[in-house]
Amino acid sequence: MKQSKILIPTIKENPADADIKSHQLLLRAGFIRQNASGIYSYLPLAHKVLRKIEAIVREEMDLAGGVELLMPAMQAAELWQESGRWYSYGPELMRLKDRHSRDFALGATHEEVITSLVRDEIKTYKKLPITLYQIQTKFRDEKRPRFGILRGREFIMKDAYSFHSTQKSLDDIYEKMYQAYINIFSRCGLNFRAVIADSGAMGGKDTHEFMVLSEVGEDTIAYSDSSNYAANIEMAPVITKYEKTSEKIEELEKVKTENKKTIEEVSSFLHVSAEQCIKSLLFKVDDKYVLVLVRGDHEVNDIKLKNLFGAANAELASADETKEILGCTIGSLGPVGISNVDIVADNAIENITSAVCGANEEDYHYKNVNPIRDFQVSQYTDLRFIQEGDLSPDGNGTILFAKGIEVGHVFKLGTRYSEAMGATYLDENGRNQPMIMGCYGIGVSRTMASIVEQYHDENGIVWPVNIAPFDLHLIAVNMKDDDQSALAEELYSRLKEAGYDLLMDDRQERPGVKFADADLIGLPVRITVGKKASEGIVEVKVRKTGEVQEVYKEQLADTISNILTSL
Ligand code: ATP
Ligand code: MG
Repeated sequence: MKQSKILIPTIKENPADADIKSHQLLLRAGFIRQNASGIYSYLPLAHKVLRKIEAIVREEMDLAGGVELLMPAMQAAELWQESGRWYSYGPELMRLKDRHSRDFALGATHEEVITSLVRDEIKTYKKLPITLYQIQTKFRDEKRPRFGILRGREFIMKDAYSFHSTQKSLDDIYEKMYQAYINIFSRCGLNFRAVIADSGAMGGKDTHEFMVLSEVGEDTIAYSDSSNYAANIEMAPVITKYEKTSEKIEELEKVKTENKKTIEEVSSFLHVSAEQCIKSLLFKVDDKYVLVLVRGDHEVNDIKLKNLFGAANAELASADETKEILGCTIGSLGPVGISNVDIVADNAIENITSAVCGANEEDYHYKNVNPIRDFQVSQYTDLRFIQEGDLSPDGNGTILFAKGIEVGHVFKLGTRYSEAMGATYLDENGRNQPMIMGCYGIGVSRTMASIVEQYHDENGIVWPVNIAPFDLHLIAVNMKDDDQSALAEELYSRLKEAGYDLLMDDRQERPGVKFADADLIGLPVRITVGKKASEGIVEVKVRKTGEVQEVYKEQLADTISNILTSL
């Protein structure tokens, strides 16, 4: 492909609104352009990268027994009403009406469509299991679209769904998919971890997220320093056994703590450690208010709270709600004397002795607060986020944190959708049974950005060989020079014939501009045809290492092939 004929609008300066490297570089190197917040065009280079990632995904999905299909992006609301998600999905689901005022959703995910399809077409155990997948544009009206295509409102996803008559069959396919994901992300050159994403009711093995390790990741991975345990911090259980913090039980005492609201302010004012404080937070769990207690140095894990109550939502009550229900401000809450809301507490609170907590009165706290004597808790359980230094949940080693970008997710759905939507099959005994399902997603466009996060330097992107939009960048320094243009054209044809996909910079630009653009775009090997063209010599530069060599045109093919296999 000639560069003069393709669309690669590079930009010299960093765009002001791009905070992270992948966003900056994909804009600057002319891969993407924003259309609206979280909505992007993929220009020719990005399109080629996406096709390469998709090819890897397809190969691995097919090997794992998947069959490709393509479902509609625009979906009848009735399906979402059947599953119940029309009501529970919230504003992330983009909804629209057709000319007859019928409701539709733009596919945020396709469980509803696939379940209805399989329900209508598969009736017997003999046709199970089946794994169907597609690569398609998804729509989610994200609250905070950001980081370019890492979190878009329109993005490309591979989603696969499997249907089974036995749990064993689901377990088998899940294992195959898990392995396929390992292969896919390895082939993309990514440094990633498969982490446990759920340790809730269904046990620890039923969903994994694939996290690309990156400082810009929005997820935190909790991993053990001495075993292969790794989980999303949201899900990692805390197994610490708490000791009593003190033996002395003294009289409850109310103290003035003027303008001291946070744990930090109160603990330093009263000369106690954060561990001696009880953090009390009013949560709205679905439509019920709950006072949640954790130790001052801990944070409430709202997902554990949600799971405890089997709720769809758990969020902090507002200042107004807190005032109305408990009669005081957020900074002075405490469990003493509270009887109108349920109180649940983290395990650490059970053993706290002579603690400090809010007195439910502006500018006052209690000292020497003790559970049972001073307040009643309806349940002690694990309600806090795991922290660095905590015991690893598998009992081996201590926990460390890393940031991750979720690029893939495999999930055992069970019968959640098949039961709601009546997707049943006849078993060997002629009995109707709900199908058992799994689902498996990969953010294809997010994967592209993640690769850039891990593969760049100060000059631009450094694409891994099998993901790069072109194999080679052939640069004719001066197209007006007859020797140079002739040799460039000759090499262009020869290398194309040899099976390389190459980009030839035939533009009438200054050499500096061409080299800077080439570094920015980041193709693995650059071949420069310059002053020594008349002698049949070109320069070969490896983008990754910066290594440069002069090569006779007769040896070029061998040199390139050696470099590409070594990368
Ligand atoms: P996140 O927690 O990042 O919002 P999710 O849990 O909502 O992700 P899934 O519903 O499991 O994601 O979707 C499958 C995959 O689609 C994710 O693993 C991710 O790679 C990708 N994905 C999800 N949301 C987006 C988005 N807004 N932009 C780009 N890719 C996304
Ligand atoms: Mg999401």
